[in-house]
Formats: sequence, C-alpha cells, structure tokens
Amino acid sequence: MKMNKPKMASEKGVPSTSKVQILLAQLEKMTGDSMVRDPETSRQITSKLLHLIQTQEKTGKEVMSKGTSGMEVILSSLESTRDAQTILNILCILSELLTLGKGRRVGVFVSKGGTGVLLRILISTSKEFHPSEELMLQLHSLLAKVGPKDRKLGVKARLSGALNITINLIKKNLQNVKLLLPCLQVLRVYSSNMVNAISLGKSGAIEIMFKILAPYSKKNTSLLKVAVDALAALLKSKTNARRAVEARCVSTLLTLYMDWHRNDTWHRHTAIRKGLLGCLRNITNTKLGRKSFTEADGMRILYNSSSECLTVRTLDPLVNTSSLIMRKCFPKNRLPLPTIKSAFHYQLDHALASGPVAQLYSQPPGVDDVVDDSDDNEDTEADTENDTENEEDEKDCRSLNDDIEKDINKLHPQKSPTRPFEELRVYERFFVELSEDFQDYTFDCSTTSSSSLARTPRTVLVPTAQALSTNDVTTQTSSVLCPPPKDPHYSTPAPLPPPALQLDTLRFSKERNKREEVAQDLSHALECVALKSEDSLNMDKQKGSPISTQKVAHSPLLLEGIAIRCLAGGGGGSDCGSEGAEDEGAVLEVPDTAQLLPLHDLDLYVDMVKGTHSVPQYTEVAYPDYFGHVAPTFREPLLERLYGVQRSKIFQDIERLIHPNDILDKIVYDLDIASCPVIESDGESLKFNSQFESGNLRKAIQIRKYEYDLVLNSDINSNHHHQWFYFEVSGMRVGATYRFNIINCEKSNSQFNYGMQVLMYSVQEAISGRPRWVRTGADICYYKNHFARSSIATGGQKGKSYYTMTFSSSFSHKDDVCYFAYHYPYTYSSLKMHLSKLEAMRTPEIYMRQDVLCETLGGNSCPLLTITAMPESNSNDHVCQFRNRPLIFLSARVHPGETNASWVMKGTLEFLMSASPLAASLREAYIFKIVPMLNPDGVVNGNHRCSLSGEDLNRQWQNPNAELHPTIYHTKSLLQYLAHTQRAPLVFCDYHGHSRKKNVFMYGCSLKETIWQSSISAASSELHEDLGYRALPKILSQIAPAFSMASCSFVVERSKESTARVVVWREIGVQRSYTMESTVCGCDQGKYKGYQIGTRELEEMGAQFCVALLRLKRMTGLHNHQHLLDLESDLIGTQPKVVSCPTTYVMDEDEPSFLEAVDYSAESNDEDGEADNEAGAGSREIPETPDLRPERPSDPESGHGAWKCGPVASQ
Ligand SMILES: [Zn+2]
Repeated sequence: MKMNKPKMASEKGVPSTSKVQILLAQLEKMTGDSMVRDPETSRQITSKLLHLIQTQEKTGKEVMSKGTSGMEVILSSLESTRDAQTILNILCILSELLTLGKGRRVGVFVSKGGTGVLLRILISTSKEFHPSEELMLQLHSLLAKVGPKDRKLGVKARLSGALNITINLIKKNLQNVKLLLPCLQVLRVYSSNMVNAISLGKSGAIEIMFKILAPYSKKNTSLLKVAVDALAALLKSKTNARRAVEARCVSTLLTLYMDWHRNDTWHRHTAIRKGLLGCLRNITNTKLGRKSFTEADGMRILYNSSSECLTVRTLDPLVNTSSLIMRKCFPKNRLPLPTIKSAFHYQLDHALASGPVAQLYSQPPGVDDVVDDSDDNEDTEADTENDTENEEDEKDCRSLNDDIEKDINKLHPQKSPTRPFEELRVYERFFVELSEDFQDYTFDCSTTSSSSLARTPRTVLVPTAQALSTNDVTTQTSSVLCPPPKDPHYSTPAPLPPPALQLDTLRFSKERNKREEVAQDLSHALECVALKSEDSLNMDKQKGSPISTQKVAHSPLLLEGIAIRCLAGGGGGSDCGSEGAEDEGAVLEVPDTAQLLPLHDLDLYVDMVKGTHSVPQYTEVAYPDYFGHVAPTFREPLLERLYGVQRSKIFQDIERLIHPNDILDKIVYDLDIASCPVIESDGESLKFNSQFESGNLRKAIQIRKYEYDLVLNSDINSNHHHQWFYFEVSGMRVGATYRFNIINCEKSNSQFNYGMQVLMYSVQEAISGRPRWVRTGADICYYKNHFARSSIATGGQKGKSYYTMTFSSSFSHKDDVCYFAYHYPYTYSSLKMHLSKLEAMRTPEIYMRQDVLCETLGGNSCPLLTITAMPESNSNDHVCQFRNRPLIFLSARVHPGETNASWVMKGTLEFLMSASPLAASLREAYIFKIVPMLNPDGVVNGNHRCSLSGEDLNRQWQNPNAELHPTIYHTKSLLQYLAHTQRAPLVFCDYHGHSRKKNVFMYGCSLKETIWQSSISAASSELHEDLGYRALPKILSQIAPAFSMASCSFVVERSKESTARVVVWREIGVQRSYTMESTVCGCDQGKYKGYQIGTRELEEMGAQFCVALLRLKRMTGLHNHQHLLDLESDLIGTQPKVVSCPTTYVMDEDEPSFLEAVDYSAESNDEDGEADNEAGAGSREIPETPDLRPERPSDPESGHGAWKCGPVASQ
C-alpha cells in the first residue's frame, strides 16, 4: 500500500474519501490471481465502489485526482478479472467517472492504456457463447466515449479484430435501439480511419446503414443521426463510394433528403439533413458518384431544396453543402473558344521559333486544345483515394520547402566575367557621362531658361520622345547594337479590324434621324471634336473650378488615320465634322488637365500612339489614355465582402443548368471572327471593344439581359496567362445593374476576394471635369467555375477548371462610354509621352539623357534614361565628382500586366526630375540608369506576363537571347559592362506588381537567410555577409506608408534563379539587388490600412524610394566602415526575428504561398470542422500510420484551415 494515499485522505479530512481509498486499496491488494480465485470479493468491492461513485460526486474526483493511482488500480483489476459481474461493475464505474471532467478524465483513461483494455475485453467476451448484452452495451458505450480521444483506436481495433465484432453486433440487433446506438457510435469512430472504412464497407456496413436510415421515419432520431454520420464517414473512401453508387444509393439518399426536407418543418433535425448531404458530398467525390447524382436529377433536387432554405439563416450549412455538391457535379463546360492560343499570333523568325512558341504552333490543325479528349469530369486517378480537388493546394504545401536554393555554390555570388570585354565595349556609348569632361560647356548659373543652350549636342544628346517612337531612332541605334528591323510578318487569324469608325458612323446616322435627341447626345459632342477648327480653340475660356480652362480636343482623326475611339458616333473624317458643327454647344470640351497632369498632353499622346507598333495594328485610342487620369481626392476603402455573395453568384451559375431556356448565349464581341464586333446596335446588348493599346478582351457573351461572360485573350504566342483586362463598354442602360463574369481566370485565388475592386473610367465623367479611374464594382468574388481547363494549358494536369472573377456595376450616364480595367492602365505610349514631357521639364542643373537601348521584336524602342546632376563646373574636381557618383540601376514593367510598377516608376522619374532640394541632392549623389519599361511589346499588346516570344522575360536573365529577349539581353549587357569597368551599381531594383499580397515590399538576396531557411546544416556561422541588403527596405518601411518590412523576403529560390534580382546579385555582384513589389489591391498596415491603392500612393512610393536612396547615401557615405555596419545593424534590428517570420518565405515572386484565410463565407461556417477532415485526413489511404500524418496548418483564430491547404478555397 502506498503511503501517500491515507496521508492525502487525512489531509482532506473527509470521511467518505477514506472509504473510497480503502476500497481502492483493497482492490489493488487483490493480485491477478486472487481476482480470479475470489470473484465474490472483487464483486463486492467494485459494487461498493460503484455505489459510492454513483451517490457522491466527490468520490469520483478523489479517484481521478492528480497524483493518485485510482485509474491504474481500476484498469488493472479490469484486466485481471474473469468475472462478468466484476467487469460490468468496473465498466459502470468507468462510465460514471468518464462522464464528468470535460475530457481530462478521458485523457487520463486513454493515456493509461484504457482503450486497449476495453478492446481486449471486447474480444474475449465476444468469444463466449452468449455474450452478455449488458456487457456489450457498456463496452461500446465506453469505447464511443473515449474513442474520439484516442487517435490510435481505429488501428488498434482493426488489428485486434474488434471491427467485425461491432459490425456483427449491429447486424444482429437492428431493432435493439438501446444496444444499437453505442455500437453505431463506435462504428462512426472506427470509420474515420480510411483503411477501416474500406474493411467495414466490405463487411456490408454501408448496406446496414441504409437499412437503418431508410425508409424515412422520425423514430429514434438520435440513432439516425449517428448512423448517417457513420455512413458519411464510410463514404469518404472512394472504394465505398463506388460500392454505394453501384447499389443505387444516390437516389435513395436524395429521396431521403427530400423526405426530411419536406417533413422537418420546424428544422429540428437539420443535423440529419446535413448528414445526408455529407454522404452525397463524399459519394460525389468519385466520377461514378457525380454521374449517378446527375442522372438521379440531383442538381435540380438540391437546387430547389436549397432555394427553399435560403430564407432561413440557420439552414445555411445545408445550402452551403448543397452548393458544394452542385458545383462539383456541374458538368464541365467547354470554354467558348476555337482555341486557347492567343487570338493574335506574332510570327517569329524560323530560327527564333524553336521552343515554347514552336510547340504551341506545331500542333497539327484540328487538334482541340480547349478541352481534353475525355474531359467529362474525369477522375484522373480513378483507382486511388486521392482527393483530386485539393491536390493543387496540397502540392503547393509540399513544394514550399523544395524551392529554396540549397546548392551553396549557386548561392555564392559569381562575378566571374563570362563575356570578353571587347564584346561589351559597344555599350560604352550608353555611359558617356562616365567619360564626360564638360570642357565644351559653359556653366553659367545665371542662365535659367533654355537648358538646351547650356550643353553641346555631342555630349548630351537628348532625343525627343517623338524620335523614340519613329523609325529613325531605329536606324540611329540599331546600326550599333540591334539587328536590322525585321519584316515582322504580322499575321492575325482574323482579318484586320474594320475601319475603326464604321460602326460609329452607322450609329451616328441613326442618331441623326432623331434630331431632338442629338443635342444632348454625347456621341454627337464627341464627333464634333473632329471638326472644331484651331481658331475656335481659344474661344471659350470658362473659369471657376480647378479644371476650369476648357480645351477642345483635337480629333485624332486629323492625324494620319489614327482614330480616337469615339462614343457611339465618333464620326469619320470631314463629313462628321460638317454634321456636328451645326449643333451649338455640341463641342467636346475636355478638361484641360495640364495643371493637374503636368506630364499629360492629348495631342502628344496621339503622336506617341502613331509610333507604337502593335501586333493587331490597332488604330484606335482608348479615351482614358487620351484624356489621362487625375487621381481622385477621396480615399477608396477596401470593399467589405457581404455575406453570401459567392453563394448567390454560384446559384445564378447553377440556374443556367436548371433553367437553360432563360439563357441568351448571345455572342456580342468575338475577336476570333472576322466581323468583330459582331452585334448591330439593337439596344438589347452592351457593346464591347478592346482593340486599342493594352486592351485585352477576346469575347463577350450575353448570358442574361444584364449579365455577360467575358473571355480574356491569352498572351500573344501563348495559351494562357490571363489576368490583366482592359476593355470598353457602351450602349448601357442607366439604372440597370450589369453582372460581368471573367470566366477564364487561372490563379486559384485573387485579391478580388479580399476587398479589391475593378477600375472604371467614364468618358462622361471625364468630360464633366473628372477624368479618372475609380474603384468600382459590387458583389465581387472569385471562385472556381465549371469551365474545363485543357491539360495542354495546365502542364499536363487533367480535370482542372478555370476561375470566375465576377463583379456587378451600374452606370450613371446615358450614352456613356466606360472602360473597365484590372488595374490603372499605363500604356507604352503613355510612357513615351511622360518621358517627352519630363525631358521638357529639365532644368540646367539636371543632366538627363534618353537613349534607345534597343528595339523590341515588335518594333518598339526600349528607352534608357540617364539622370544625374550636372557638375558644378567643368573643373577637374567637379567633373571627377560627377563621374565617380555611384550608380543606381532601376527597371520596371517586365510583366505587362503589372501596371502599378509603371505608376511607381512614374513617381520615381517625376521626383528625380523635380526641383525639390532632396531631388537635387539625390541627383548630386548618384547617376541613375533607368529602363522604365522592359517589355514594351507585352504592354502594347495587352499581355499579362510575356513578351512576343511567348516567354516570361523575367525568367531569361541567366541566358538571354539577343534576338528573342533583346531588352533583357541589352540591359544585362549594360550591367555586365559596369561590372567589367568596376562600376557595378550600388542598388539594382526591378519594379513589379503583386497580385496576391497587400502593401509594397521587396525581395532581396541573402546567402545567410537562404541557408537559414533551407535548414541545410552548413556552418552558416562561417559565412560572412554584410547586412547592407536590409538597409534600403528598412528605410523604406520607415518612410513609405505603403511599404511593409514584414512582407519582405531575402531568400533565394530556385524558381527565381533566372530573375533580374537573383542574376544581378549573383553574376553582377550587386549586394543590394531587389525586386520591389507593389500591391494591386491595397494596404493592411500603415497609414493606408484598409484602403485600396491608387496612383497617388503608387507614385508616392516611387518618390519615397528616391528619398530612401538619399538616406542610404548618407549611411554608405560614412568613412568608418564599422560605424556603418553598426548603423545598419541598429536600423535592421535583430534579424533572426525577421528571418523566422513566415512571410519571409516566398514561393513565387508573384504568387507566393500566401496564407491568408479565405473568407469564403459561403462555405466557411460549416461548424463541425468537416473542412479539416476533407483536406487533412483527406480521402487518402495511408495504411497503418494514419495518425502520424502531420497536422495541417490552420488558422487558430477562425478555426478554419489556412487558405492554401483548405478545401474551401479550391471550390
Ligand atoms: Zn512581376
């Protein structure tokens, strides 16, 4: 006897306590032998003990209290006795004990091996001829109670043979509700193990469950609830699901569901209804199940029942699960396209065309690349238990770790020159400032105007932006660097667009028949623009508002056939003019935005467009680019997502199937057919257009009166990369709410789910003095749809779907022309215009030079800027200081869809050219080399990601091809030249946009941080690495409100080894080599928290970047190097903390594994954690060690799975 027990008892001083202790002591005293020999005594003791526990609550506490061995004594007695009555007594004692205590007691029981003891007794008892029913009942009750707490119960039960005992007991006792209930509870526990589920399925468990559940009856509902849950667990196994389908269980389940739906009028049994849906949901994870569900009219049944449930909020779980099943079973549709290859093809030279483009276009004609051969809800792995729906996300999770570069050799910077300097010498001419002696200059500070007089043409050759855009630039530069301009062999599947204004003219003459309307008709006003003569320009000078000065827009029509896209009328040439001029006041008056947009000039813009070469040979100009964009003064908060938005959108989609007759299916715009746009203005449909620079819309289909499906074009010479969009609509009705669905999105999630809105530009607003893009759109959400994605476009994976981005919008002006865009457009022509205007702003103190770096495949020039301060004088010292300024190398817009990068670049350029003292200091501190648009062709042609070579240019830096990737090849050469001449830049930064994260942040390169992250056990302590790479982002986080240090990462990923950032770091040896990512959405920290980002914030970011460089200069300018390191360390703080931050861990530059919990309110309020089971325990069978699976990361706050791994997101 242990001494501590009586002692404890005396401490408590309660008589009854000692009684229990005495009994327990007596029990403990009975060794295994005596238990068997003296059943009578053991019976008596256990009976007394049971009585005590049943009558005095304190007793239980005593037995279970910490530090006592009560449970051990009871369990060891249970193990050793052979007496049925003693066993029963002890089981009852346990039952009493484990009922209380909130699971801690069960935990103790399990930890002491209690479940194993119960299973052993179950086995031995069942071997008796007539096992006691009461004993079986107690055993199962206890197992049901403790089972969920014992993760290994399933395995233990299978190995011990207990599964069959329970299932046989159930078979024999279908009418015995009292015994049946605990048995079913235990079965439910067993079935959560996949191997068990299959084994039980073979033993007929599914058929038995149906015997219990059908036909419909309201008797014994608690029993039914357990049975239906057990069934659902069994059906998670695809083998079982198929077994059930073959037994025609799907229609039985649907019938049962409808019986409950009709009879459960007071919604008291939603748990059973939900359980039945759970069964259907699991069955429909198989192809056979989906087929059976559809054949049994499941879509209609669930649609109708859900519609009836919509009004009762408490029935949401039913609606949500129904919606989940319907989406899964929705027949996969074909994307309404002849091919997923881009509508426009740019013929590369034969020699260049090997590679992805050749593959794309070498498919034999007639091969359908839109869907796979047998893509009807294909189960790709029909015989495995993999849950195909989640594989993408799971794969992402798994590969998270694989992408970190672990090869130390690859991580070490390799500055070894790979090219002979002779080859690079030609680039000297882009660095004339480095050898400039300024002896021909006069440095007369009193000269304030006419900067051009201050320098000789030889030294500071500043070609105008116009020159950039014309062919003589080509000849000027290509003689040195570029291959002669090739015959581009433009080829478009569709013939050239009709003369731009035909339709408009048509519309115009129609309008003329209704003269009374014409007066107020904007279209009319617009037409007249064309005709307004120069003389009348200065006639009206109204004053008042900030944009008071009105300016009559020149018609672009006057300019050599380039047409501005005109609303409804537009008018072709002179005849339009004579018509319009009759109408007084019908003059297009556009706000003179010169005060607000100093870099904008309407005429100059049109000039620039004329020199821009697009593959489709666009002849139209979009109004927003023509008028310009003045950032609104109001803030635009992130859109709050309303409850049930996604669900209602999905129901509308399902209705297409349920009520096919309501669907118009009318093609209103189609680039793939010759006569695009295809509709006549019948007033019943919107008119779409995107045939202008950066436009991207391939097809528009009117689905319902106010609903359109939109299909985006692939990047040219590619068959995917759809995300960027920019298109025009007109012919809208005021007051109507239109729904737009972009149906071929590819990314599995989008910031459109987190508060981002689309951008809209109204021409009516613009001419009323508000030329601006505004965030707009309601009911925005982004979800997986029912359009099948061909394995050709998914890298071989079958059974994938596209995603829908849906938004609703209404229009406030009649006869408006509106534009929608993914983000604030910024065209190549805009860049050229801005550069031209910036150049004009140059003061004598500024040294600015524009060179043409090279010509693109599409025949557009790639500008290279040099900006610094003129030397104070041409004295030796000053010139020397001038030449020795450190270089800063910036680039942007390698990805055309990332227009935000251009706005940030605009901010940088404007700051650099500004008169502020900071800017002056900055110019005196550095020489800036800037390639503001690395991918002009992509921008011009409305691509999202690629250049005309069909490739992502930011994956070509390791080995760029001079012909295929000229801008990358020559930019890299510039850097190589600098490295060779020991002038490698202090900072290199490539501006990008980020579609899945908020804020602005940077990626850099750190050997140490990569090694820390990669968990390779290299002696990282031996590595010496200057922490300087952290300084610039740290400064930015202090001064730029949109910038977030927490989102920065300095890990080198394998998938990024050919990006600018990594190559410039490793090959050029630039320690501060960065990608700067700006959100397309908004901020969740800092001053702009809760707001969507606008051009003002983006431009500010670009300016703050400059300010940060100035601070960096102050730090790096310090002579004492150690002091500098201290300073930087102070600034940087403790790095291990930052390093361990999960956000430093980035998978894909543009699509990192962003663990933002999705607020898919439609699915997320499944309260019982089934979502977890789906993704984690999944329907995957892992024999024997099902409990050793790593736990899925989950969001502790919401209780839902982290987005990336959760099943809800991929639905
Ligand atoms: Zn990018």
